[in-house]
Amino acid sequence: MLLTVVPLAVAQIVTLFAVMQTVEKDVDTRARESLIVGSTVVSEFLSSRGEQLRTSVSVLAADFGLKQATATGDAATIRSVLDNHSRRINADMAMVVDLDGNTLASTLDEADRPEGHLAFLANDDVQNIETTALFGETAYHVFVVPLRAPVAIGSVVLGFPIDHQLENRLASLTGLDVSIVASETAPTKGVVADAHTLSYSLPFGAGSSRFSVVLQRSLDEAMLPYVEARRGLLIFAGTLLLLVALAGVMFSTTIAKPLRTLASATQKIISGNYEGDLKVSSGDEFGELASSFDSMRHAISEREQRISHQALHDALTNLPNRYKVLQILTTAIESARDDQRSVAVLSIRLSRMDEISSTLGHKATDELIIQAARHLRVNLDKDDLLGHTGSNEFVLVLPGQDAASAMSRVERIEQILGSGVTLENIDVALQTEIGIAEFPKHSNVAAELLRYASIARTEARTGKERVRVYEAGREDEFVRRLRVVSDLRTAISNDHIEVWYQPKVCLNEGVVCGAEALVRWQHPEFGLLFPDEFIPAAEQAGSIVHLTRYVLTKAVKQCREWADRGCVLHMSVNLSVRDLLDEYLPYHVLQILKENGVKPDQLTLEVTESSIMEDVARAVLVLECLRDIGVRISMDDFGTGHSSLAQLRNIPLRELKIDKSFVMTILADAQNEAIVRTTIDLAHSLHLEVVAEGVEDEATMRRVASLGCEQAQGYFLSKPLPPNEFIAWLDDFKPIVFHERRKTDRAFATKAT
Ligand code: C2E
Ligand code: CA
Ligand code: CA
Repeated sequence: MLLTVVPLAVAQIVTLFAVMQTVEKDVDTRARESLIVGSTVVSEFLSSRGEQLRTSVSVLAADFGLKQATATGDAATIRSVLDNHSRRINADMAMVVDLDGNTLASTLDEADRPEGHLAFLANDDVQNIETTALFGETAYHVFVVPLRAPVAIGSVVLGFPIDHQLENRLASLTGLDVSIVASETAPTKGVVADAHTLSYSLPFGAGSSRFSVVLQRSLDEAMLPYVEARRGLLIFAGTLLLLVALAGVMFSTTIAKPLRTLASATQKIISGNYEGDLKVSSGDEFGELASSFDSMRHAISEREQRISHQALHDALTNLPNRYKVLQILTTAIESARDDQRSVAVLSIRLSRMDEISSTLGHKATDELIIQAARHLRVNLDKDDLLGHTGSNEFVLVLPGQDAASAMSRVERIEQILGSGVTLENIDVALQTEIGIAEFPKHSNVAAELLRYASIARTEARTGKERVRVYEAGREDEFVRRLRVVSDLRTAISNDHIEVWYQPKVCLNEGVVCGAEALVRWQHPEFGLLFPDEFIPAAEQAGSIVHLTRYVLTKAVKQCREWADRGCVLHMSVNLSVRDLLDEYLPYHVLQILKENGVKPDQLTLEVTESSIMEDVARAVLVLECLRDIGVRISMDDFGTGHSSLAQLRNIPLRELKIDKSFVMTILADAQNEAIVRTTIDLAHSLHLEVVAEGVEDEATMRRVASLGCEQAQGYFLSKPLPPNEFIAWLDDFKPIVFHERRKTDRAFATKAT
């Protein structure tokens, strides 16, 4: 409305104003012109009339009868001549005066006679006079002509009234308002204007300044035809404005209203409300726009639903993701709180996925995870809420269950996944590590419960257990372990890692024959750390390979130093699982030995059963390489695993270390002694040397010696010692004397140092 009506109104006003301005100017100019033309006409008329009148007066003055009557003073004759004559020439007044100015005869009544007014006529020098004069109430245009016979005897005076008739005559001649006014002052020159009229004055006739003719033109009147036109214009403009306004209203209802509807629908979409169809039902472009808009709204709402589904679900398995699980758990906690029930949270990790993915590839791993998710979803209870929180991590929320009752579900999960997932015709049995946390026992915050469950799961993994329930307070420990893992690499480069040595004694000669290198960590914050605290973490984090190389280098160097001081000792270094998968390890070992000039058979590498079992084929390959370069391999912690000696036949072993758990209890437990005894015999039959570790007292040492062990290691001899203390200990050491020794059918001789 504003855009159409206002500019139009302004345009109209401006136009009208301009037109009227021009018109007024034009009217004014024309009025002035008409005044000037009128004045010319008037003065022309007056002068020709004056000429005419003068002639008639002269004719009268030449009248012989009049002259005679005047000369004789015959008033009656004069009067009659005057009457006749004045009637003929339409004079209103006629008189004859003598030379003294006295009236001899007059057509005027006695009262109207000018007394003394004509005194100016009593003049010797009588001549023609044309003037204006008031006789009584009436103004006259007066002509005086002397009567000569032949000398002047008097004057004839003729008067013509200056009256409305004259004015009307002039008005009809000029088309102007004409008034003849007595003027005291001289008439103004030129056109004079006031608000409504233009005036022009000119002197009335010749020789008179007593009257002037005022010509007037009323501007209002002149404007009259234009005022009509203006009214017409105004009406036209008003009608136009009205029409335009009407059009505006129509425009706003047919265009602006649908647009407003669209705009408010857009606002709704912005605020996230996708409900309700548009109510624009016209068949025009707006109808089309509205229906396009509706389809757009549907598409957006669909897409948003999809996006929010994607935001809350794992792309691979379509299971609720971590964020969604948190929501589910929060709701479960809330309703459990009202019913005073528990909620168990299980953090489930598929084990060995790295291995599987490096063997089968990532695509197969993804497929495996999808299958695992499907198996779980199909086989678990309807109320169990399964989520997928990490690549191979799942979460199971069990409303109404506590940690104890969740155990049955753990078994079920192990069953479901353990029974195998088929992948490209291969049955892959999946193993899991599971951590459990419980509401309200451990926490009432969803995120915390999830974290605790995954801490418990990590602990289960570290402890090589299937499942573990979170224990309150373990969090600090967990954090500390995380720190330890992250600090390990810098610890190696900052030389915070130390290697301590525990002596091994040869039971045949009673002398020190070697040492085991055991790692220690001087942590700047936590103090001295023992391997049990950081080795498993380092194994998980993958930094164990660096650590092993570091320890190996230090230990071999140490071996060199001792040899330089005159004591040639065997050096035992522990390997872990990852090292056994490292095909470059033999090369590095050889390198280190060469660099330090240490013979390969001076180095023993200790491996555990379980570490070999992770990947027997690869481990055997690495171990055979090591054997081939001449390094001795020792089976550590023997007896704790499940394998029998027969199973170890393929492994190139030279030594077997009976685990300290058997040795430490050998005196108290007859069964353990029997186990140790048969193990020693079997080992010997396989040409293996036997080391008893965990010898804590002399009696134990003598017993293992009597059973045929070649070497002993334990606190009785010494705890692991830092290098300098080890030297001091070595200097103090007195060879042990053995009185009784069980004879064994050994096929080889122990090398004495
Ligand atoms: P391990 O190879 O069985 O080492 C022997 C462990 O038993 C050592 O613990 C030692 O201090 C302890 N020990 C020795 N004699 C006795 C005794 O008479 N009684 C008792 N109760 N214990 C005794 P440590 O040094 O804490 O090492 C623990 C484990 O850490 C080692 O067990 C070994 O598996 C691992 N480890 C140590 N150093 C390294 C290393 O450099 N690399 C790798 N991969 N593992 C290492
Ligand atoms: Ca060991
Ligand atoms: Ca051991």
